[in-house]
Amino acid sequence: MIPLLSALLSLATIVPFPQDAPAASAADLILVGGHVVTVDAQTPEAEAIAIRGDRILAVGTSQAIRALADEHTQVIDLAGRLAIPGFIDGHAHLKALGDTKQMLDLTHATAWEDIEQQVAEAVAKTPKGQWILGRGWHQEKWNSPPNSNVEGYPTHARLSALSPDHPVILIHASGHMCFANAAAMRAAHVDADTASPEGGEILRNPDGTPCGAFREKAAGLIWDAYEAPASGAEPESTQHAVHLAVQDCLSKGVTSFQDAGSSFETIAILRDMAESGDLGIRLWVMVRDEPERMAKKLGATKVTGAADGFFTVGGIKLILDGALGSHGAWLLEPYSDLPESSGLNTAPLEVARRYADLAIQYNMQLCVHAIGDRANREILDVFEANFAKHPTKASRRWRVEHAQHIDPADIPRFAELGVIASMQGVHCTSDGVFVPERLGETRSKNSAYVWRELLDSGAVVSNGTDAPVEDIDPIASFYASVTRKMPNGKAFYPEHCMTRAEALKSYTLSCAYAAFEEDAKGSLTPGKLADIVVLSKDIMTCPPEEIREAKVVYTIVGGKIAYQATQQSAPTDSNHPTDSKHPADSK
Ligand SMILES: [Zn+2]
Repeated sequence: MIPLLSALLSLATIVPFPQDAPAASAADLILVGGHVVTVDAQTPEAEAIAIRGDRILAVGTSQAIRALADEHTQVIDLAGRLAIPGFIDGHAHLKALGDTKQMLDLTHATAWEDIEQQVAEAVAKTPKGQWILGRGWHQEKWNSPPNSNVEGYPTHARLSALSPDHPVILIHASGHMCFANAAAMRAAHVDADTASPEGGEILRNPDGTPCGAFREKAAGLIWDAYEAPASGAEPESTQHAVHLAVQDCLSKGVTSFQDAGSSFETIAILRDMAESGDLGIRLWVMVRDEPERMAKKLGATKVTGAADGFFTVGGIKLILDGALGSHGAWLLEPYSDLPESSGLNTAPLEVARRYADLAIQYNMQLCVHAIGDRANREILDVFEANFAKHPTKASRRWRVEHAQHIDPADIPRFAELGVIASMQGVHCTSDGVFVPERLGETRSKNSAYVWRELLDSGAVVSNGTDAPVEDIDPIASFYASVTRKMPNGKAFYPEHCMTRAEALKSYTLSCAYAAFEEDAKGSLTPGKLADIVVLSKDIMTCPPEEIREAKVVYTIVGGKIAYQATQQSAPTDSNHPTDSKHPADSK
């Protein structure tokens, strides 16, 4: 009873559609003639779906569903296409995704010199003194290391000469490192005498001067200098960024978004947007802020199912270590390619324990970023000790964000403790190429992205992209989850693959579960929210290599068409012109 009760309480404002209610009116929208995969074990497949208001009315054969239509019902003929529950990205960063859309895109650079060129072009069209931002560089994606480098990372001299009057910040693809030019370091008052902060590292030239690369917490030194003058414009720039991000999500079939950490200020803006109908996507948010502000502000910020089920603040976010690519992941044993380091612990365990108590106090989920095997073990220990202190039969569904490298001894603990492994399929294939360098063969094989073992042990694995670290595209992450094929065509330990049914569940129902929302969404079940995606290709049955060709044809949020592809729109015998207006535009 307790798990059900707590789930119902947490969904107090999302009332399931009464199954036996008399048909007050016909369906508003029906989708017929398709391959419907419901992620509901009761009725796993169907041909058609009926929607009334923002809820699913029925799923079944086309004939049965057509019988629920009248002359006012909009009809979409799926023409054999696949319809599935809307994708829920279980871990991504909404504002940062929108911010990134306004920065230089460094993800395609194959050499550091390409990036210098991109910055030089931006300098030519940017007023002097204005900051230039870029995101997405990754030293492992370059064909050769920069001519002048420290541990493979570039040094700033040439970049600084190209941009003497513009402070430049270039964010690493992982988000766990940044690169600054001389003007940015000047603005941040960083020089040879600046010590590395705890949980971070200023990489240095042999003469002790900063080389330009700032790892983990050290990147904050540069960010503070950037954000200080920019803070006045916050609400408008946040709204703009969110509009860009939501547009991107809807075009890729993401109907719910679990935001992996926003400040109290950003959360207030997001809630305003949701309540004025200006969000367009369902949002479940983790609070990430300064430890001393948490205790004071959490109580007033936590909310469940506000704005007609579009807005929930349910998690507390803590970052315990860094990323593997930047040698920041906190490991049990040293890095194979940096033997003097076992990575970085970016927050004291004492803070993790304090947050665990806060999570109990406010009945929230603690969501802790842990990538390295040491970080995973330490946080499982913290969770376990807290659960022992506050025993309950129900799973608290606390989450390990990324859970990327898990020592085999710790794998069964996720299921035993009821802890969610909030993973990102596409990280495996993006990073797989350098994982063996960092960890060696044995650790790579036995501990890296072990979702097969986690699922087999009974753990709940949710999926996502960590956008803007990766593209928000669920298809890419689904493909990675079921093939583990890297861009070079090789599969990264394919014995750990998920099945397609598991991958779809990890991206829908399991994400809903990971937020106590499985009674409202995550499957195409009568009474649940009508959040649906129609794809151009049947990713559940097509040859594996064709999965990546799938495009979103319709994204439906709460029974409304929120996105419709223009080029290949499905044949429709609609009685009404389709409303393809982006909800973010309908203020
Ligand atoms: Zn993240």
